Amino acid sequence: MYKDGKNTTDSTAAPRVSFEFFPPKTAEMEDQLWHCINRLKFLSPEFVSVTYGAGGGTRERTHNTVTRILRETRLQPAAHLTCVGASRAEIDAIARNYYDNGIRHIVALRGDPPAAAGGAGDSSYHPHPDGYGYAVDLVAGLKRLGDFEISVAAYPEGHPAARSLEDDLDWLKRKIDAGASRAITQYFFDNSVYERFLERAVRAGITVPIVPGILPVTNFAQVIKFSAACGASIPPLMARMFEGLDAEPETRRLMAAMLAADQVLELRRLGVQQFHFYTLNRADLVYAICRRLGIAEVRVASRG
Ligand code: FAD
Repeated sequence: MYKDGKNTTDSTAAPRVSFEFFPPKTAEMEDQLWHCINRLKFLSPEFVSVTYGAGGGTRERTHNTVTRILRETRLQPAAHLTCVGASRAEIDAIARNYYDNGIRHIVALRGDPPAAAGGAGDSSYHPHPDGYGYAVDLVAGLKRLGDFEISVAAYPEGHPAARSLEDDLDWLKRKIDAGASRAITQYFFDNSVYERFLERAVRAGITVPIVPGILPVTNFAQVIKFSAACGASIPPLMARMFEGLDAEPETRRLMAAMLAADQVLELRRLGVQQFHFYTLNRADLVYAICRRLGIAEVRVASRG
């Protein structure tokens, strides 16, 4: 059992979950997202979050998605917001607008330059001259603006640009001291990595929940590429399981469901009580895994 007092509760009760979506680019993707939301909403997530594109490129779409969720469902939406490519005044205006529209939960991030996510140009991070430099500055800025609930990112294997794991953890602690009440981890596939991270976090005096980010993997080739950039390691056994399955999407989906279910069930046995799912706007795998975790549907009429 984890001893931080927040991740440990009655292990027989169904765990709490949250879901992450990305804002759709096209009408077709919008339909897919809403199919996903409508499938997952009856699993009573604690909140659902909507990402903000690298470089701030999805500002409008993130806003529209978050406000539509608030308007049309009973879900609690959280808007991701990054420091990249905007002045403090611009970021403050976005945040105030969220606050005034009833969106009080922000996932506050530094963000990456567009080139780090495959776009053109310099992939190294340079703070905007008039902007918030790092997530810790954004958290402090948001807290000055209003009584936001703030979640931040955590890296069980260290952020790729971190000087050391200790330094990285120190920055996480600062984000929490600045007002964040929850950390959500980068995805990981080896639970012992998360276990060791929690132990170090507790020793560093971090007492807020550090919610594991779970990524059910169907497109293994893409995950290898992305993991190299974000510093998540791929266990050799997992790589062997996907070997030779490039042309077999159905088998890959079965594999993804089994692996993610094994991962969350093991985390449950270790006492983890909250999970954040990277849905990639697809409901089936996440829905099945939640049912495997014992989460039942609660049917409530939607607003919209
Ligand atoms: P920070 O916490 O600011 O810092 C990252 C690292 O930089 C730290 O770990 C530390 O090693 C170092 N550091 C921090 N402060 C300082 C300082 N003052 N001086 C020197 N070094 C410092 N990206 C998006 O673009 N949009 C999203 O919607 C998005 N959602 C995410 C959700 C989750 C749960 C996670 C885990 C990541 C997400 N990301 C998103 C990716 C994230 O923006 C990148 O990983 C980015 O490189 C770091 O953001 P951060 O908020 O962790 O940064």
